[in-house]
Amino acid sequence: MIVMKFGGTSVQDKAAVRRVIEIVGRETRPRLVVVSALSKVTDGLLEIARLAEQRDAVAAGKAVRALQVRHVELAGVVGAAELRATLLKELDATFAELAAMVGALGVVGEVSARSRDTIVATGEVASSRILAAALEDAGQPSRWLDPRELLVTDGTHGAALPDRAATDARLRANVQPQLEAGRVGVTGGFVGASAEGLTTTLGRGGSDYSAALFGAGLGAQEIQIWTDVDGMLTADPRVVEAPRVVSRLSFDEASELAYFGAKVLHPSTILPAVGSGIPVRILNSHRPEADGTWIARETARDAAGPAAIACKRGLTRIDIASTRMLMAYGFLRRVFEVFERYRTSVDVVTTSEVSVSVTIDDRRSLDAIVGELQAFADVTCEEAMAIVCAVGEALRSDARLATQVLGALEGLPLAMVSQGGSRKNVTVVLRDADVTEAMRRLHRRFFEAGPTTAERTALATA
Ligand code: ASP
Ligand code: MG
Repeated sequence: MIVMKFGGTSVQDKAAVRRVIEIVGRETRPRLVVVSALSKVTDGLLEIARLAEQRDAVAAGKAVRALQVRHVELAGVVGAAELRATLLKELDATFAELAAMVGALGVVGEVSARSRDTIVATGEVASSRILAAALEDAGQPSRWLDPRELLVTDGTHGAALPDRAATDARLRANVQPQLEAGRVGVTGGFVGASAEGLTTTLGRGGSDYSAALFGAGLGAQEIQIWTDVDGMLTADPRVVEAPRVVSRLSFDEASELAYFGAKVLHPSTILPAVGSGIPVRILNSHRPEADGTWIARETARDAAGPAAIACKRGLTRIDIASTRMLMAYGFLRRVFEVFERYRTSVDVVTTSEVSVSVTIDDRRSLDAIVGELQAFADVTCEEAMAIVCAVGEALRSDARLATQVLGALEGLPLAMVSQGGSRKNVTVVLRDADVTEAMRRLHRRFFEAGPTTAERTALATA
């Protein structure tokens, strides 16, 4: 079986839902469909909770009705009168419950984390009900499965921790029989319930996490994350003209890239899947024929080069040279204690016997940090710096790649060079002004031999 997860934009309107129906219908394996709230709905529900908290019952009530109208409109995607009537009744009940709750909370003016979860869960409950009915309507026997009966969590409202064993038992009891009966299971992501039956949520963007937990629990063959981009790219399209889709990534590579803002999905959310050896595929619901990106625990990439390059801009470099403490142990500890005290995280570090250079992103405490460091070191800062980094498993096995990275950057002043301990990346720090040039050179060097993404898609769809 497989898990197919669709994000908020994949169900935002009728056209999007029709695309989902087609994608799910084309699949022949038994499948559990996991869906997010319609796009912007979770934000809207959080806003409703805020309005209730401010005792603005009128505005809260209005916002609830607006959300209801949007869902009812989308329910029009269901053609068969009887199916649609049932769906509308369900949606009515869901939103009546929400309105009653928001009305009551609006009087008290107090919204607990527990109440907020119940409010926010409405988004995934409603979207999954609509999708289940729409699939059934399209001739695909489906069964809506209440996410509060599948995902068992602890009681940490807003950031609940899943209870894997309890969830797996629920999956076996509630999902397995539906799949065996030839029905498509449809449920909402992000939402669960504690053992006591109180509604919980996993934290923003949690639907990917739900999909991974469900896939792991059901022993899925793969987990598909359907979104509105082609997958992970070889470089940020705002910096490099024609990045390509990375066809395969290891989990570690994906984690490195996520740190650089590859926002397609957060790797920690798919950890349950990857931990169980289940590959995760990122696919584009606008172009289902494209291959997307596979993420697996390990990946044997045929190409010997890096998987992708990435950059992070607007950093500050701090050079810290030991004076009195020359050669003394404890120097690094003293340095990093200062950063810790000011809760400032350090991105890249390079060291020598008598000095250490670091980059930081968050400059809020820079003056204070420098002040404290100066008590025992000479400190100089340089602003407008950036990290450029090549990521890939191959960097570990093929020492020549680091030389090639540096070679491609010849002539650009490099402030720091680091090959990580895991050696899955080579990182350089240079002036922000040189980032575009550096990224373009690296991209040309490692990725621009074959056809571009656009060309490959044209070939694939021709
Ligand atoms: N609807 C939730 C959110 O917007 C969960 C998700 O979409 O993954 O955060
Ligand atoms: Mg998301």
